[in-house]
Amino acid sequence: MIIKNLITHVISAPLEQPFYFSQGYVYRRSSVIVEVIGEDGTSGFGECMCHGQQSPFLASSFVENCYKEEVIGKDSLDVEVIWETLYNKARPFGQQGIAMNALSGIDIALWDLNGKQLKQPISRLIGGRFREKLAAYATGFYRLDGKKYPETSVEDALKFKEEGFTAMKLKVGFTPEKDIEYIRSIRKAVGPDVRLMVDFNACYSQAVARRIILELVPENIYFYEEILTPEDMEGYKALRNLTASYMAAGEEIFGKIEINNWLKNGALDIYQPDVSSAGGITECKKMAAIAQAYNTAIMPHAWGSGVSLAASLQFISSLPYTPMSFCPSELFLEFDRSSHPFRKELINDGIRYENGYIYVPDAPGLGIEVDRDILEKYKVVK
Ligand SMILES: [Mg+2]
Repeated sequence: MIIKNLITHVISAPLEQPFYFSQGYVYRRSSVIVEVIGEDGTSGFGECMCHGQQSPFLASSFVENCYKEEVIGKDSLDVEVIWETLYNKARPFGQQGIAMNALSGIDIALWDLNGKQLKQPISRLIGGRFREKLAAYATGFYRLDGKKYPETSVEDALKFKEEGFTAMKLKVGFTPEKDIEYIRSIRKAVGPDVRLMVDFNACYSQAVARRIILELVPENIYFYEEILTPEDMEGYKALRNLTASYMAAGEEIFGKIEINNWLKNGALDIYQPDVSSAGGITECKKMAAIAQAYNTAIMPHAWGSGVSLAASLQFISSLPYTPMSFCPSELFLEFDRSSHPFRKELINDGIRYENGYIYVPDAPGLGIEVDRDILEKYKVVK
């Protein structure tokens, strides 16, 4: 369908109580929602995910000032042609970071429009579904002023377990000594059967990371996420085969060329692209094919609103097992449980979660309805 217009909705809301992680405080949750409007008036929606300390005006400016004029007038079915055109246009001034983040939201919106035009969920247009539901792991455990740790997190972990989660990801990175004590306390509380992952948000050196990983061997950590900075690929390589725990990263790795570099160098066990930041559905499918060639698991990062979560669900349902077998290793999807004023409301709570599983929506496109009242309610202007 010919694209008649592209609108960038910048939405943001302050948190009632700011939380903090290893890089500082998060005061707001924000998203850039990209809307492409076809010639018959149908809209497709996509999202540029905003990290906790990322202004939404970065991606919106890139969409508006670099990409928008290249999209209007094009046929939305030429989604890969549009992707390559935009990627090439940004070559002299950025093909990573915010450039890919902005491109991702447009790409998802085009796929949503195509799905609506063809009356199929996106997953059916990108190869079909290997699964109708996904095991979810709970992400939460951000820190709040005035609370005691690890006590507060032990309570949260037990609550998640009660809700049916069999896997959860802790947020750490507050000195090695405190991290080790904290992780041990939670393992003791939830018992040996819960899959524990830990996310450091890129805060340690290789030497510190090695000490933490070795001391935590008895706690049977499933994966270590971003224990080092993404610039330190050599460090990841050195840590990867230190213990049986997996090394994971990806929310700061963009595009197929970068992931090929990481996997060729044997630096990761689990790759965590964010479909609304790493390059959209078009690029993430290619990145997934590269990961498959290295038999590397993909467990997407998902920290945006319901639009981004819906895109992740359509994408991940289309990923083959690596490798196929009678009892293959199941993929997990990140299910963000941290404070967010409009994550669910933006899509009218349109994604079903039950007993540890999230269900892939069946309706055309992303399979969700974006609530325009919520877009208006949280709209911000600069
Ligand atoms: Mg992370």
